[in-house]
Amino acid sequence: MTERRCRATRPGFSGARCVCAVTILLAACEPAPGAGMKALTGATVIDVVSGRAIGDAVVLVRDGHVVAVGAADAVAVPRGADVTDLRGRWIVPGLIDAHAHLQSWGFAVALRYGVTAVRDLHDGTALADTLQAVARRSPAPHFFAAIAMVDSPPTTYPDAFAIAVPDSADAVVGRLAALGSTWIKVYSKVRPDVLAAVLDAARLRRLPVAAHLGLTDAITAARLGVTSIEHLSGIPEAAGDSTALFAAHATSLFAGWTAFERSWSTLDTAALGVVARELAARRVFLVPTLVLHETFSRLDDPAVYRSPDLKSVPDSARRNWNVPGMIKRAGWTADDYPLFRAARPLQDFVLRTFAASGGRVVAGTDASNQLLVPGAALHSEMELLVHAGLTPLEALRAATSRAADLLGADSLGRLRPGAAADLVVLGADPLADIRNTRRIERVMLGGEWVKR
Ligand SMILES: [Zn+2]
Repeated sequence: MTERRCRATRPGFSGARCVCAVTILLAACEPAPGAGMKALTGATVIDVVSGRAIGDAVVLVRDGHVVAVGAADAVAVPRGADVTDLRGRWIVPGLIDAHAHLQSWGFAVALRYGVTAVRDLHDGTALADTLQAVARRSPAPHFFAAIAMVDSPPTTYPDAFAIAVPDSADAVVGRLAALGSTWIKVYSKVRPDVLAAVLDAARLRRLPVAAHLGLTDAITAARLGVTSIEHLSGIPEAAGDSTALFAAHATSLFAGWTAFERSWSTLDTAALGVVARELAARRVFLVPTLVLHETFSRLDDPAVYRSPDLKSVPDSARRNWNVPGMIKRAGWTADDYPLFRAARPLQDFVLRTFAASGGRVVAGTDASNQLLVPGAALHSEMELLVHAGLTPLEALRAATSRAADLLGADSLGRLRPGAAADLVVLGADPLADIRNTRRIERVMLGGEWVKR
């Protein structure tokens, strides 16, 4: 019929030529099956869950999600797809920083380093509004926020939500939930009775609880049911005599932190091992933020201040950091740093024992606190996790699928059909050397290139 009409309207055409022309015309009118689709071809995809490296892979992306991922002989590239040839490259899921305190400048910096999701554990309500406004204006990592921490008076930070007695926990947790908190973060002055009440109130609202412990030890917190323990806090208190440590935590944040870091090297490894194994058995996530311990243990090392990562930090943020001012407030002297450094092998031992016992380790950084650059610090954290005894795959998992498990976000942190199309293209194999996660060539967020 089409041919007849064509002949009638264009009598000069031969039949064969006319069919050809119409076919082309129809092809141009019908959407190609790959229209609106991106096809990434030729790279090696790291399946972080199975540990399998898929060579010469095809990743198909449409509408912000992964449509298919597999070897080239199993996944065809549909006609019309926008093909990006990534031969000689590696693809990993977008990275997740599970412990951050971002400022508005940090979103873009984190993205450039391949961080496509962040769990933010306190910025106060005012900054939380600012961050959400920034995220609406420009590409920003997926954001899971505690908004403001919960602490007991006298609270360390003025913008913390205070709970003096267990009876006030429900109202405070309810207020945070109403403000949009997707996490409850408890801080160092919270004692076990208040923690138990916070956990009850959080459970009622299906909110997970992250704990930076001080006046509650790690085993007590894990038994009560916290979801994650931050900074390895509460572990020395559980492994040795907690009296002096609790007294220091009750005094101030820095007094507590100093006593805590100095205590590690005095502890018995057998006792630390018992704590690590029980924490693993209790299924609590550990977010050790080794990069925070490492950085603060080397504040007497000029190299810390010369890191190329610091070039990503705006001058105003560097001024706000005021590292000498922080050291002065903390009262740290040259005698403290060697003791902080002596803690590091014990912290690594706990982490190694915890992981070997089936414990779930998740990567976090505490960026953008002093000298911790958003995104960059997560690569340092993965390197430190490998130094502590994890394999490169385990370290990568800690910053991807394991972190997504912690967030309860099963479409993040892994590349499979239906997952968010968040990924990082690397110029070298991260399983051969974890430092290769820094060899970032491209970053995709929700199916769009945000760096290339
Ligand atoms: Zn923190």
